[in-house]
Amino acid sequence: MEKTKRIVVLGGGESGAGAAVLAHVKGFDVWLSDMGHIAPHYKDLLNKYGVQWEEGQHTTELILNADEIIKSPGIPCDAPLVKAAAERGIPVISEIEFAGRYTTAKMVCITGSNGKTTTTMLTYHILREAGINVGLAGNVGKSLALQVATEEHDVYVIELSSFQLDNMYEFRANIAVLLNITPDHLDRYDHKMENYAAAKFRIIQNQTSDDAFIYWQDDPVIAAQLEHAHTEAQMLPFTDRADEQCTAYIKDGMMTFDVDGAHWEIDRNRLALKGLHNMYNSMAAGISATLLHIPSEVTMRALENFEAVEHRLEYVRQLHGVRYINDSKATNVNSTWYALESMTDPVVLILGGKDKGNDYSEIDEFVRQKVHAIVCLGVDNTKLHAHFDGMVPVVTDARSMAECVDKCQALAHDGDTVLLSPCCASFDLFKSYEDRGRQFKDCVNALQ
Ligand code: ADP
Repeated sequence: MEKTKRIVVLGGGESGAGAAVLAHVKGFDVWLSDMGHIAPHYKDLLNKYGVQWEEGQHTTELILNADEIIKSPGIPCDAPLVKAAAERGIPVISEIEFAGRYTTAKMVCITGSNGKTTTTMLTYHILREAGINVGLAGNVGKSLALQVATEEHDVYVIELSSFQLDNMYEFRANIAVLLNITPDHLDRYDHKMENYAAAKFRIIQNQTSDDAFIYWQDDPVIAAQLEHAHTEAQMLPFTDRADEQCTAYIKDGMMTFDVDGAHWEIDRNRLALKGLHNMYNSMAAGISATLLHIPSEVTMRALENFEAVEHRLEYVRQLHGVRYINDSKATNVNSTWYALESMTDPVVLILGGKDKGNDYSEIDEFVRQKVHAIVCLGVDNTKLHAHFDGMVPVVTDARSMAECVDKCQALAHDGDTVLLSPCCASFDLFKSYEDRGRQFKDCVNALQ
């Protein structure tokens, strides 16, 4: 009798726990190992299915005897254990790759440096409004693997980070969306932009002429990469310019779609999501929906009634004429650029946190035009001061969210916007960007 194939899952978070359950359901011999702690609800899930696991250590001999390893996206490819597996010729794949083997559902896959969650949620919202049996997966919602193991959907909308794409080989996206490519996480790609861009382009590998590739036409990095990329997929570019060659474009204030013979348009002022960046996101979602034969009336209604995603330019409240906006998810300079681009009022800006090698000069122009005070909220604000002192009338420090919000209130005038869009990761003072955003909202809501 053939020996049962052994699958080892590294990492016991949403992705790893889901992969382990799916592997178990499919009859593999499964072992899950996490160097840190596994959250209680994931332990419960693993125990419910009788999956064996360990935490706080990696027992090498129980891992390197695997036939295949499923690696959670948070574990870098150069982690010693992952390297050891590669040296022994053990295939290392991602949870999405694994789950993709066990479903024939249509896959709408969304990647990019910024805007992934928003576009994923918006696309999911449109498909739900249209009554499609759709699952939400990837970085948002439940893992794809768990859904494939325990539910049945006709379509999945999947947010894919470059870390997930890194370990994808055979997976095929029926609709692939690439929003943009700007420097982020370069530390995981040998500090080489071309490596990072190549990882993003894995989203089109395995696409056939039945599939579609939706991308932002004006992104220089995408354009350069496209010159030597080979794909059979249908190419569907979008732009905010009046370029009628594109699948979606803006002309005379109308967002216009020309997809597979379907032509429709929507007044850009009616879109629920505001700002230039959200026009891109709306176009990408609108093209995907049209490809899936959603009637344009339904898509239009959904684009109009969508509610913004928490921590992404999320309106918190207005007090004494000052608007407070939580964009805690802006963890790199480019996303803050888009946040500032969409601001129409004078801004008090909260920046700071863990700097991933940021070049702040990208936002100088908007800072000069729109920002009259910066509150630096980080353990080490030296780099922010070196860059912004003298450019903005006030650059001050805060060591906690409460102190920060008090300072912002004191600095803001009637008609201003206080914007938390920090350019940086949150891990120096907060547990996560969600924690940072929630603390911001709590402090803002407590203001009098
Ligand atoms: P991701 O999931 O890729 O991190 P999000 O949808 O969570 O992206 O948005 C993160 C931040 O990036 C938002 O707060 C916004 O400021 C900015 N952003 C959103 N969409 C785009 C886009 N298409 N291009 C550039 N920046 C964007």
